[in-house]
Amino acid sequence: MTPVTPEATSSSSPLESAIALLRAARRIVVFSGAGLSQASGIPTYRDADGLWKNQNALQFSHAEDLKRDPSGFTKFWGQRVSVVESASPNPGHKALAQLQLLRPATRLVTQNVDGLLTQAGGLDVLELHGSLRRWRCGNRSGPWPFHRCLRCGSHARPDVVMFGEMLNPGVLLEAQVAAQESDLFMVVGSTTIVYPAAELPELAMARGSRLVTLNMEPLPHLDDSAAVVLRGASEDLLPRLLAGLASA
Ligand SMILES: [Zn+2]
Repeated sequence: MTPVTPEATSSSSPLESAIALLRAARRIVVFSGAGLSQASGIPTYRDADGLWKNQNALQFSHAEDLKRDPSGFTKFWGQRVSVVESASPNPGHKALAQLQLLRPATRLVTQNVDGLLTQAGGLDVLELHGSLRRWRCGNRSGPWPFHRCLRCGSHARPDVVMFGEMLNPGVLLEAQVAAQESDLFMVVGSTTIVYPAAELPELAMARGSRLVTLNMEPLPHLDDSAAVVLRGASEDLLPRLLAGLASA
């Protein structure tokens, strides 16, 4: 007969450790990036096979490109919108929406512009880079002939943050406050290198929040500070996390 020693129980898997942290947390922030939507067929921006390798993307990633080449701009973004509109939330998105049901103080912050977290049932998603599912002026029935909104006359463009543009300050502030008030900050499918993704985990940890990283690749600047490092696909790991949390 071998008694269960504290050593034996503390040798739990990273998944079990992450479930225990989720179980103990009250204010959770989940910060997601392109990795979350990869299984939904949304091309990633900065991966080796990513969108920005595409020459068209480089031509139409600045807002001024709309004035330079309205029809090229509208055609390019119209294609991006149709990719997003034909995509569906994957089990990772659904697990995060379920997390909000189990832990209502959970905030979902994302770099993704595909709107899939909201489609999965996520509430008050903080979309740092905007959304391809609405136009900047609020009207949403384009793209239009002549590339102008038929309602307000402004240039038709999706409400996403393009290169050289500021993030929406209100959305950014809400994400910063949520990070500072969190007791658990989870990074999902983001390299967290670009601003403000790089800053948010630091803000959280400075106030004592525990960090969990879930990514396909190592995150050398974050994994060392993380309480738990999960390596793998979010559409696989997030449902397992939630199953563990729900069965508690
Ligand atoms: Zn308009």
